[in-house]
Amino acid sequence: MAKTIKRKTASKKVALKATAKPGKKSTSSKKVRYVYYFGDGKADGDGKMKALLGGKGANLAEMTRIGLPVPPGFTISTDVCTYYYDYKKTYPKQLSGEVDAALSKVERSVGKKLGDRTNPLLVSVRSGARDSMPGMMDTILNLGMNDEVVEVVAEKSGNPRFAWDSYRRFLQMYGDVVMGVQKRQDEDHEPFETVIEEIKHEAGVEKDNELTVDHLKKLVERFKQLIKERTGKTFPQDPRQQLWGAIGAVFGSWNNDRAIVYRRKYGIPHEWGTAVSVQTMVFGNRGDTSATGVAFTRDPATGEKVFYGEYLINAQGEDVVAGVRTPHPVAQLAEEMPAAHKELMKVRSILEKHFRDMQDLEFTVEDNKLYILQTRNGKRTGFAAVRIATDMVKEKLISKSEALKRIPADSLSHLLAPIFDRESVKNARKIASGLAAGPGAASGQIVFNAKDAVELVHKGERVVLVRIETSPEDLRGMIAAEGILTARGGVSSHAALVARQMGKVCVCGASALKIDYAAQTVSAGDVTLKQGDFISIDGTIGEVYAGEVKTAASEIVQVLVEKKLEPKKSRIYQEFDSLMGWADKARKLDVRTNADSPEQVATAIAFGAKGIGLCRTEHMFFEGDRIDAMREMILAETVEDRRKALAKLLPYQREDFVGIFKELKGWPATIRFLDPPLHEFLPHTEAQQRELAAKLGVPADKLAHRVQELHEFNPMLGHRGCRLGITFPEVTEMQARAIFEAAAEVQKNKTKVKPEIMIPLVGFPKELKLQIDIVHRVAKEVAKEKKTKFNYLVGTMIEVPRAAIVADEIARDADFFSFGTNDLTQTALGMSRDDSGSFLPHYQELEIVKNNPFATIDQAGVGKLMEVARDQAHKTRANIKLGICGEHGGEPESVKFCHRLGLDYVSCSPFRVPVAKLAAAQAALS
Ligand code: PEP
Ligand code: MG
Repeated sequence: MAKTIKRKTASKKVALKATAKPGKKSTSSKKVRYVYYFGDGKADGDGKMKALLGGKGANLAEMTRIGLPVPPGFTISTDVCTYYYDYKKTYPKQLSGEVDAALSKVERSVGKKLGDRTNPLLVSVRSGARDSMPGMMDTILNLGMNDEVVEVVAEKSGNPRFAWDSYRRFLQMYGDVVMGVQKRQDEDHEPFETVIEEIKHEAGVEKDNELTVDHLKKLVERFKQLIKERTGKTFPQDPRQQLWGAIGAVFGSWNNDRAIVYRRKYGIPHEWGTAVSVQTMVFGNRGDTSATGVAFTRDPATGEKVFYGEYLINAQGEDVVAGVRTPHPVAQLAEEMPAAHKELMKVRSILEKHFRDMQDLEFTVEDNKLYILQTRNGKRTGFAAVRIATDMVKEKLISKSEALKRIPADSLSHLLAPIFDRESVKNARKIASGLAAGPGAASGQIVFNAKDAVELVHKGERVVLVRIETSPEDLRGMIAAEGILTARGGVSSHAALVARQMGKVCVCGASALKIDYAAQTVSAGDVTLKQGDFISIDGTIGEVYAGEVKTAASEIVQVLVEKKLEPKKSRIYQEFDSLMGWADKARKLDVRTNADSPEQVATAIAFGAKGIGLCRTEHMFFEGDRIDAMREMILAETVEDRRKALAKLLPYQREDFVGIFKELKGWPATIRFLDPPLHEFLPHTEAQQRELAAKLGVPADKLAHRVQELHEFNPMLGHRGCRLGITFPEVTEMQARAIFEAAAEVQKNKTKVKPEIMIPLVGFPKELKLQIDIVHRVAKEVAKEKKTKFNYLVGTMIEVPRAAIVADEIARDADFFSFGTNDLTQTALGMSRDDSGSFLPHYQELEIVKNNPFATIDQAGVGKLMEVARDQAHKTRANIKLGICGEHGGEPESVKFCHRLGLDYVSCSPFRVPVAKLAAAQAALS
């Protein structure tokens, strides 16, 4: 596994960061502080200190400061985590003294003591990184329990069942997390769960809560035995030893496999580390006057302004999140515990006003008294992100620029994702329904575990991961799957939480489903589906269908592109439209599109693209009869023959450009001349060659010979790009003619046409000069023939390092540059864009590269070349137009980089246009 914590530099950071007090500058004379107390309305930290206290610790401090009912505790800073990994899993010397002092303060505050025989304190020990990583790290509850304390708690509470149940839960968590008693490879179930099942079997009961005190006592003994058997160690009775064991385990969980996978997926730096919060326990499992729950101040799936959550009476927190018992909707609390519900509604409003964002909170009611255990900005779907942000602007809670900054740009793509086609759904067989936990529509083959999901997706299949419930171990499968379906669990279950954040389609708690992992089947009523069968889920309304269901365009696409839906009938469209309007005002970068057909252009323009940034003309030659004329051109052995074939291609090209110019309605079009290796157009099998030879009336062996001649060992670095136009200038001539003739035709009808002709793969100034001369000559000829004038530019792509370095010379002839970052990445890194799949994932695992450089610009390398090109170009032409048309043009981080670089525009595929616009606005606002 990758080493994930940076050495050396981190320790320097410890000293600097740790001396800093909130809101004050650090001074070297101040003592380093590692532990921050909160309780009784006062806190050493505050909500701004997320880097040091983690999101959880900082917000516990903040909630304490604003007077919310938070049980007292303390947070050990992330600096200790950094130190822990820097110094072979040890702690700074002063830590134990600080922990003792903070613990004493907690003990004084609540009038209890850890391990005390009359008034024992129990605490929770929880992880908390700067950004929340739900369920990825470890938590220990009920710490402080031992053979003596359990008796005291039983007596004092008058509820021995509660005491023994708490003890067995503690043993289970401590045994698992701290002592490492976990499922072995040859086991199907967690060992502690197996023991519970045995006891239930012996007791003849079905549910956990049917176990009596005697059963629970037996369970405690068996758990202790299990720990001893598996670890050779005795479960520690000393609460201090327990506490330090738990602290170490939580720091250790920062580097467990699932936390690493999660950080990689969400770009959370490994250096951040986690904080540890130790907090007085309050109990939701003290009988029917107690409860525990989680809630969102608004619906995290749709964004609707409703208090949204769930709870369980007589339960502890993990029961709600684990999805083992299906909890009640929070509205029901108004009937079951009216006072606590009223208090909770007050807290909801205070939290939203204070944090000015949708909150995801954990609460516990202990003997009718409400406590808040955590709050954080709630994870939400793309739909909810847009709705909450636009609603909060209307409510004057946030400004438009805050709204723009808050929505992850990528999440807009969720809004454009297809939904199920209404007609197909009508005919589909609905087999179950559950909670709508992740909006959208997904169809795929059923898989029952993460491993199969990953394997099938690697083979190019679409899958839906079907589980009774999910756990963090399923993360890789959840990432791979189109959608996630669970039979158990509520809206805050692991499946729902993770799906929501990833933007995965998810239906959870579809309780009619009977899932049999051993038989690899899922049944509902009289329908039984097996692994590999298709299943379809609608995560917007929470429905499950057998088989494959056709999809239809999203509402936004129906309004803007298909024009089938009236804007006023779609709320999500209206919200999207407002947001795009704000983004357009804020951004400095223009957004163009990569499109090569009139349909694609129309879509992109509907999404707000300001012209074409890349029209790949080779894409226009693959269709229908064109390919034959193209092949004839390539096979021609004399210029005359080639010209004859080109004359056949000319009308096709012209016709395409006419369509594109019309759709553009005056917006500019960057048209790139032919780029791919010629042999890509030729038939490769013997049968195809024979067929083509017959069509063209040439001998088959002659054709085969020519195909062989054109074969290249390294086509990406071969006869492509401007090298084609240099060796066959008549190809350039034909393409230029097609563009200008089309422009002349469209201009006749008063539509402006602005071609920006782009020469690919230039590395030498002369390459560009030779091609530009042809373009200017043809433009003059056509202008004369058609008695018109053209408003056009000629420029080049910067897609090989040489071009970047000699950009000052190339800029002499170029009106514009467009960074072809696909090839620039390929050539700068010497990494084939088509073959990197075999090693890049490994490079990412080892953190040789942080991101896939073909998706996110490698700023330190490729980005540097772009900077050089920009600066060199400006030496020659201060006003040269600069853009980007590689795939990076639609990726938010790269768009932000392009903003900083001062480009004029980014260009991306039509459906990425809204994402790029939002990212551009965010870049301008940051
Ligand atoms: C590029 O190289 O970035 C580019 C846009 O061109 P293509 O992907 O067609 O090679
Ligand atoms: Mg290229």
